[in-house]
Amino acid sequence: MIIQPKIRGFICTTAHPAGCFKAVEEQVNYVKRHGKFTGPRNVLVIGASTGYGLASRIVSTFGASAKTIGVFFEKEADEKRTASPGWYNSAAFEQLATRDGYYAKSLNGDAYSQEMKEKAAALIRRDFGQVDLIIYSLASPRRIHPLTKETYSSVLKPIGAPFAGKTIDAFRGEVKEVTIEPATDEEIKHTVAVMGGDDWMMWLDYLASENLLAKGIKTVAYSYLGPMLTHAIYKNGTIGKAKEDLKLAADKLNQKLKTLQGEAVVSVDKAVVTQASAAIPVVPLYISLLFKIMKAKGTHEGCIEQIDRLFRTYLYADKSLPRDAEGFIRIDDREMQEDVQQQIAAIWPQVTSENVMSLTDLAGYRDDFYKLFGFNMAGVDYDSELDPVVNIPSLAPEKEDMP
Ligand code: NAD
Repeated sequence: MIIQPKIRGFICTTAHPAGCFKAVEEQVNYVKRHGKFTGPRNVLVIGASTGYGLASRIVSTFGASAKTIGVFFEKEADEKRTASPGWYNSAAFEQLATRDGYYAKSLNGDAYSQEMKEKAAALIRRDFGQVDLIIYSLASPRRIHPLTKETYSSVLKPIGAPFAGKTIDAFRGEVKEVTIEPATDEEIKHTVAVMGGDDWMMWLDYLASENLLAKGIKTVAYSYLGPMLTHAIYKNGTIGKAKEDLKLAADKLNQKLKTLQGEAVVSVDKAVVTQASAAIPVVPLYISLLFKIMKAKGTHEGCIEQIDRLFRTYLYADKSLPRDAEGFIRIDDREMQEDVQQQIAAIWPQVTSENVMSLTDLAGYRDDFYKLFGFNMAGVDYDSELDPVVNIPSLAPEKEDMP
C-alpha cells in the first residue's frame, strides 16, 4: 500500500508506519541527548500512545530507565485501512525500548472499563510488584461508565452564554467567525464524566485496593488553562469544568495517598498540536499564533520538551520547582509569559484568511499535524509501497504472555 494523508475536517484518516517510527525515534533521541536522571522505576501510563502520554512513556524509559506499561485505545490495520497513529507509535516505542534493553508492555482497550484496570493490575503484580508513577493522559470523546454502563459524550462548548469568536479551518486556511451555543446542564455533566477526575480516582482506588501502589507513589494528570482569549471555550467552558473536577480528584487523592506518602498532582501543560487539541474550536488558530511568537523568542516546546522538563525539574528534581497558589505544576509558564500573551492579544484581531500565513505559524501548525500521523517526516519515502500491518510486539498473539 502507498500511504498518503487523507484529511477529513480536523482529523487525518490514514497514518504512515515508517513516519510514525521516525517521529517516535526523534522524541527518543531528544531525551537521550539530555542524558539520564534518577526518576521513576515502574510506570503506568494511561493514554500512552500519542501526545503527552507517549512523551511521558518515552521520558520515563529513556531518561530514567524505567519499566513502563502503556494503556491506550488504538486501531490495528487491516487490508483496507492503515492503523491509527497511536498504534504505529506504540509499535515503534516498544521496538526502540526493547532494542535498548528496557521493559515495555502495552494494553490496547478501553481504559474506562474495569476489565482494563484488572488487566493492568495483573501485569503490575506480575512484572513490577508495585507501581511508583501513574500518568493519567486520556483524551476521549466518550466514556462508558464501568458500573452503570451509561455512555457519556463530551462536548466542547461554552457555559452560560453563546461564544462568538474567531476560528480557523486549518487546512483551507480560512479564518472565520464561529458561534457556539452554550452547553446544557446534561452536556456539562457528560463532559465532566468523560474528562474529569472520576476515572483517574477509580484507577488509583482499584490499584490501591490490590496493594499495587508503592510507598511514595506519584500520580500526575494533565490539564490546560490557557489565556483569556480561549477562556470562553476552554477554561470557562465544558472542558474547563471537567478540568476543575480533575483538580478536585487530585485533592481527594492526596488525602487517600497520605498513608503511602504519595502525591497526586495536576500539571498544566502548554498548548501543542495533538489529535485532541485539533478538535477544539479557536485553539488551532491560537496555537498557530503562539508558535510564531514562541519560536521567534526561542521558547517553543512540543510534548517531549514539556514532559522532559516536567520530570527533570518538577517531579524528580532534588529541589523541585514550586507549585502555583492552587497547587498546580505550571509547565505552561513559557506560554503564559506576559509579553507572549500581549503580542498574541495585539495580533489576534488583525488575523484574516488573507494574512494568516504571514501573521501566524499556520505552516508550522500544519506540519506538526501531519507529523502526528507520520507524514512530512524527513528521510521517509512516501512513494514506496509498504505493509500497513505492523505488530505491537507485546500484543502480538504468538507472544501473548498476559498473566
Ligand atoms: P491525545 O489525543 O494525543 O492522546 C490521548 C490518549 O488517550 C491516546 O493515547 C489514546 O489512545 C488514549 N485514549 C483515548 N480514549 C481512550 C480509552 N477509552 N481508553 C484508553 N485510552 C484511550 O491527547 P493529548 O493532547 O496528549 O491529551 C492528553 C492530556 O493532556 C489531556 O488530559 C489533555 O487535556 C491534556 N493537555 C493537552 C494539551 C494540548 O494542547 N494537546 C495541553 C495541555 C494539556
